[in-house]
Amino acid sequence: MGSVPEPPTAPTDATSDHRVELLERGPFLIARCSCGWAAPARRSRPLARNEARTHMAADAGG
Ligand SMILES: [Zn+2]
Repeated sequence: MGSVPEPPTAPTDATSDHRVELLERGPFLIARCSCGWAAPARRSRPLARNEARTHMAADAGG
């Protein structure tokens, strides 16, 4: 019946968690990230996705 030490809470590294979603605004697509980043509206889906990848890659490379 000893007191069990609580496990140390893992620090939530918010910067490493980037969840990008594509928002459709009519003919435009906007890549938006959970970290607050957002790309300008694009008319090309591949381009919007590419910008989202670039954003995540730039953050990871730091
Ligand atoms: Zn992000």
